[in-house]
Amino acid sequence: MDRRRFIQGTSAAALAAAVPASRADSGSDRKTVGIQVGAVSFVDEGVEQVLDIFQQDAAVNTLFVATFTYGRGIAGRQVPGQPLPDHGKQQYDTGTFFGGCYTAVNPKYFADTSFKSFRAPDLGNFDVLEAMLPSARKRGLKTICWFEDVFRRDLPGIQELEEKELSGANAATLCFNNPGYRNWLLGIVEDWSRSYEIDGIMWGSERQGAFLNMLGASHGRAEGGHVTCFCSYCTAKARARGIDPERARAGFLELQKFVTAAHQRQRPVDGYYVTLWRIILRYPELLAWEMLWTDSLRETYAAIYEKVKSVKPSLQVGWHIWHNNSFSPFYRAEQDLAAIAPHSDFLKIVMYNNCAGERMARYIGNIGASMFADVPGQELLDFHYRVLDYAEPSLAEIPFTGFSADYVYRETKRARAGLNGTRTLLLPGIDIDIPTAEGHSKCTPPSVRDAVLAAFHGGADGVLLSRKYSEMRLAHLKAAGGAVRELGLA
Ligand SMILES: [Zn+2]
Repeated sequence: MDRRRFIQGTSAAALAAAVPASRADSGSDRKTVGIQVGAVSFVDEGVEQVLDIFQQDAAVNTLFVATFTYGRGIAGRQVPGQPLPDHGKQQYDTGTFFGGCYTAVNPKYFADTSFKSFRAPDLGNFDVLEAMLPSARKRGLKTICWFEDVFRRDLPGIQELEEKELSGANAATLCFNNPGYRNWLLGIVEDWSRSYEIDGIMWGSERQGAFLNMLGASHGRAEGGHVTCFCSYCTAKARARGIDPERARAGFLELQKFVTAAHQRQRPVDGYYVTLWRIILRYPELLAWEMLWTDSLRETYAAIYEKVKSVKPSLQVGWHIWHNNSFSPFYRAEQDLAAIAPHSDFLKIVMYNNCAGERMARYIGNIGASMFADVPGQELLDFHYRVLDYAEPSLAEIPFTGFSADYVYRETKRARAGLNGTRTLLLPGIDIDIPTAEGHSKCTPPSVRDAVLAAFHGGADGVLLSRKYSEMRLAHLKAAGGAVRELGLA
């Protein structure tokens, strides 16, 4: 019997019996049932009503409040073009959403950065933590400040923090090796840790290095040659590691020619895959540059971790791991869980099963237009299913079926095994109504229930309902809460 049928056909009681004992190290063996929520939901619906729904419908015990972002994935109401859910203001916020920090900002923590003006203007002076913390604490709910590595370019003082493209132009992304950005990150976590009675911090960076960006090895829309970072901090750091920035630059120019030709279907004499390897062999600096970027991200994790712990050791610090980890074997290789664990109290690893179908199809399209341009799409997908260890439907089907709960089970089990011997808790990110294209698969109560059951059956220490309450349907929150209760965890 295959795993999917096992999960779908097994009684909740049997699954409950199979849920492994918790690895609790904080004195509590309660599993985390978290939900991501943005400030606008508390304003639109009222703090007490939102928390009632979370507790009663979804059995939530931990709030991951989006305290800072310029992205629409975790803040603001439903994104335009998607149907509004069955709660909250029945109106899009296209005209008012701007993003930024949804708490008060204490300037003393931002003395060492040029980026000082980032209070979100969308909701006036509303301070989300001030508004919801008293009630959350009274109810015994934990609160984690959740923020991400997403900015906009029209902000005073941000240009100094931006990455540099191969061309020398500024990029829209910020550089982890730039002290101005590092100090800003440390300032904001110190501000929240000192100024509010919170329980922890979660940060997420949905990016990768220049080598994988150039090959289009992600499920995002192809950006076309986003090659960073060649700022003075990064080139100095490269030299200190024995990497010659000029050789890296020359390698990326060769790679750029290769990718441009591939996109025009100008097949090299020896084919795409062989030719790419020839470039890598000639310019190993390409991989060294990729790892420089990845190590810089890990150093940023470590710096944030140490800062928060220096303020209050009991605060829990963890990271949101990008969905690309589910699609790209290259990005997955960079997510070395044992290497990240020493600076991770918990990891939210994204396992959004419904939107994974559409996203995997896009990933295959992207990578199938560069290094694997000789491989037909279905064969390329089959290869990925083999190396990533999934059993999912065909390329033509997955946008319309999504991925199954079995994917959540396999990914949870794999990540849990990867974290064995560490004290890091694993919180799979569960897909609740993450937008997909019209006509593509949508979440249903059974799909949400099965995903939650699969996560716990795979050995999760909790689940994190994602991405934001303002896009979730109430029936799906109830299905998540129902699964938690079936398992006897609430
Ligand atoms: Zn840089």
